[in-house]
Amino acid sequence: MQALILEQQDGKTVASVQPLDESQLPQGDVSVDIQWSSLNYKDALAITGKGKIIRDFPMVPGIDFAGVVHSSEDPHFHVGQQVLLTGWGVGENHWGGLSQRARVKGDWLVAMPQGLDGRKAMIIGTAGFTAMLCVMALEEAGIRPQDGEIVVTGASGGVGSTAVALLHKLGYQVAAVSGRESTHDYLRGLGANRILGRDEFAESRPLEKQLWAGAIDTVGDNVLAKVLAQMNYGGCVAACGLAGGFALPTTVMPFILRNVRLQGVDSVMTPAARRAEAWKRLTQDLPESFFVQSATEITLAQAPEFADKIINNQTQGRTLVKLA
Ligand code: NDP
Repeated sequence: MQALILEQQDGKTVASVQPLDESQLPQGDVSVDIQWSSLNYKDALAITGKGKIIRDFPMVPGIDFAGVVHSSEDPHFHVGQQVLLTGWGVGENHWGGLSQRARVKGDWLVAMPQGLDGRKAMIIGTAGFTAMLCVMALEEAGIRPQDGEIVVTGASGGVGSTAVALLHKLGYQVAAVSGRESTHDYLRGLGANRILGRDEFAESRPLEKQLWAGAIDTVGDNVLAKVLAQMNYGGCVAACGLAGGFALPTTVMPFILRNVRLQGVDSVMTPAARRAEAWKRLTQDLPESFFVQSATEITLAQAPEFADKIINNQTQGRTLVKLA
C-alpha cells in the first residue's frame, strides 16, 4: 500500500509517496480500500503548505475518498460495500484519502448513493458536494429560476464548475465569473449563459445596480463585496470559499436596504441527513456530460504537482486521483 505523506522539514511542508503499513493507520471502526480521491483547494493548501490546514505531522492529506469497505466493526457497513467520505476533518487532523487505505469512524462514511460509482463520486467530491449545498441554500432562500440571473464566482474551479452545471440543469440563467479567458469555452459547455471577467469585480461601491437574484461565491474578498452590492432586493448569496482571500470589505447597505441574505455554507460538519439529501440531489440534478467535461485524472505521484497548479490557478474543473 502507498500513501502521500506530508512531513515538516525546516518549517516547510514536504510531500512524498511512501509505503504504508496497516499498523500505521489511525484508530477507527471501518477501514476502506480507497479507489478514488480528489484534489480540492483545501488539499492544495495542505500539500503545498500555503495554508495552515495541518497541525500534526506526519499526515496523509485528502479530504475526500471513495472505495470499498475492507473491514468493519460498524453494523451500518459491511465488507465489500461501496462508500464515500467528505469532510469531518479527514485529511486535516485524521489521515485522509490520498492513500490506498484509510481507517475512519463509520459515522463519517456515506453509503454510495444509487446511480453513482466511486469515480463519479470523486469527480463530484467535496467541491461538488459543496456546490450542491450552495444550490440548496439558494432554493431554501426562495430563489427560483424566474427570479433572475445567478452569478457564480471562481466559476471554472471545482465548486464553481459543479454549481454552473447544476444551476443550468435546474433551469437557472447563469453568469459565470472567471479570471481566465482560457476557461470560457469550458464554462459555456457547462451551461453558463454569459461570462464576466474577474477584473470587473475588483472594486465596488456600497450599493450598485441590481443584477443578481442569487449568487454562489467561492472567492471572498473584493469579489464577494461587489456581488453583495449588486444583489437584487431580497436576493441571497451562498458563500463557501476564499480562493481570492478571507477578507470581506463590504458595508451593511445591501443587508439593511435591499434585504440581501448572506448565507454561509460549510461542507465539513454537515449533518448526516443533509448530506444524504445533497448526495441524492447530485445523482438527480447533475448532467451525465459533467463527468466527462470536468475531470482531469492523475496518479498519486502527480498530486504535489497538481496541488501547485491549483494554488497557481492553472487547473479547471475537478482533479481526480486514481488509487487502485
Ligand atoms: P479550485 O481551485 O478548484 O477553484 C477556485 C477557483 O477560484 C479557480 O478556478 C479560479 O476560478 C478562482 N480563483 C483562484 N484564485 C483566485 C484569486 N486569487 N482571486 C480570485 N479568484 C481566484 O477550488 P475549489 O473549487 O475546490 O474551492 C473553491 C473555494 O471554496 C476554496 O476557497 C475552498 O477552500 C472553498 N471550499 C469551501 C468548502 C466549505 O465547506 N465551505 C468546501 C469546498 C471548497 P477562475 O479561474 O474561473 O477565476
